[in-house]
Amino acid sequence: MALCNLCEEHEAVVWRRYSGVRLCKSCFTQSIEQNVKRTIRRHAMISKNDRIALGLSGGKDSVSIMHLLNQITENRPDIELIAITIDEGIKDYRNESIPIAEKNAKQLGIEHKIVSFKETYGYILDDLLVLTKSQKRRLKACAYCGVFRRSLLNRAARELGATKVVTGHNLDDDVQAILMNFMRSDIERESRLGPKTEPRHSKLVARVKPLREVPEREVALYALLNEIEVHLGECPYAGESFRQVIRNWLNEVEVKYPGTKYSILRGFDKLLPTLKEKFGHPPLQECKYCGEPTQYKVCKACELLQKLKT
Ligand code: SF4
Ligand code: ZN
Ligand code: ZN
Repeated sequence: MALCNLCEEHEAVVWRRYSGVRLCKSCFTQSIEQNVKRTIRRHAMISKNDRIALGLSGGKDSVSIMHLLNQITENRPDIELIAITIDEGIKDYRNESIPIAEKNAKQLGIEHKIVSFKETYGYILDDLLVLTKSQKRRLKACAYCGVFRRSLLNRAARELGATKVVTGHNLDDDVQAILMNFMRSDIERESRLGPKTEPRHSKLVARVKPLREVPEREVALYALLNEIEVHLGECPYAGESFRQVIRNWLNEVEVKYPGTKYSILRGFDKLLPTLKEKFGHPPLQECKYCGEPTQYKVCKACELLQKLKT
């Protein structure tokens, strides 16, 4: 392979088609670190004395961002990192990723907490899907999972005294979500999809996505080149999701027109202030069953659980 375009010394290990640049292992690793630092700075994602809760699944994104943040904040004694793993109860998947999450957190000396659907909601995701099989307008696995996971991550972070929640969303994840919301005409949800979600209620913790400008493929390469152990398995329910269709389509387009994913993100970022202004954000109240913040009287998680009981 050709030489690295930056140091012109070492052999390149990656060719970024969207920029035409070839990079060696060391320059590539540095570029990822710079990318994450730039995103954090640009969107003021970390503040003094933050206690940051990382949503840690054990997959490449969350494990990589934990290693990156650990390194970025190593000279910041005022910043504290804690990791939270949500155990949804997905057989042959989550039970395999949790030990890897645990191992990485231990290696970095980061406090790690595991919270489960079962102990919070009374059901594991697998059982919930069996129970809802006969429901007329039954949701797909990811719809249940997303609602419960978002709520539980916020609740666990709040209970641990976190001031920020960091998630491992990468460039591909965000671009897929932008397109999905648009295709579903869910522009209100689109307006909440920025790099940083400010809390709209005292019970909500601000969410930030420092990996948002790193392509999925490069997150995987970062973990591989830096010998970070990650869980590589895929959720058994991923294949049935709308996201998977968009993901495959986007990857095809990116091969033919390199840089498309970045273009979509840049275009969205230009629109975001207008979307926020136009859609505003209605005030939130507390769910009458669980007390979690919600737009309606009953939060989505409790609504789904109620349906299950009836
Ligand atoms: Fe949950 Fe869907 Fe992700 Fe599986 S693919 S972990 S069901 S959101
Ligand atoms: Zn180099
Ligand atoms: Zn509720």
